[in-house]
Amino acid sequence: MNVILLGGPGAGKGTQGKILAESVGVPKIATGDLLRAAVRGGTPLGRQAQHYMDQGLLVPDDIILGLIEENLAADEAKDGVIMDGFPRTIPQAEAVDRCLAQRDAGVDEVVNFEIPDDELVSRMMGRAAQEGRSDDTPEAIRKRLAVYREETAPLVAFYEERGVVTGIDATGTVDEIAARVASAVAA
Ligand code: AMP
Repeated sequence: MNVILLGGPGAGKGTQGKILAESVGVPKIATGDLLRAAVRGGTPLGRQAQHYMDQGLLVPDDIILGLIEENLAADEAKDGVIMDGFPRTIPQAEAVDRCLAQRDAGVDEVVNFEIPDDELVSRMMGRAAQEGRSDDTPEAIRKRLAVYREETAPLVAFYEERGVVTGIDATGTVDEIAARVASAVAA
């Protein structure tokens, strides 16, 4: 099963993706985690990506498309994946389609995390204090929200046309949200 978790920064996709991946038994792939690991490792990818990430901007598609292709083509992904943090643009969504089509698969479900902006901001500020993410500064947070609205939110309509989107209320406890995600995916 191939599932995309869509929603603004701080919506809880990482936490819920982990829970869902364990219950479905397929890996979770998070481009944000892969990029942060590359930055920590000082790899060429990390050096290219860091400056965009710190500013709250999307890393350009020409860098991300290779990362998506490489990870979706991997053997571990053959029975399905939970996609966290990608696709974030239409060209990325088209790359996901191309990769899945190579295995005669497609996007089965898109779970759209619905949550008010002020709650997103307060969650990200809380995470900044706990995890020290370099892109959880107030300025980068504002930028990431604006970038989400402009570049990623149009994906909701893109997938709605295919009838694969389920919106969930992403406020409440982790367990409450996990139950909503599970029933969205089971529906
Ligand atoms: P995330 O952990 O998903 O919030 O991602 C953190 C940052 O990594 C984002 O603000 C972007 O700079 C970058 N990033 C992660 N995934 C992508 C993606 N699919 N496309 C472009 N940039 C991304």
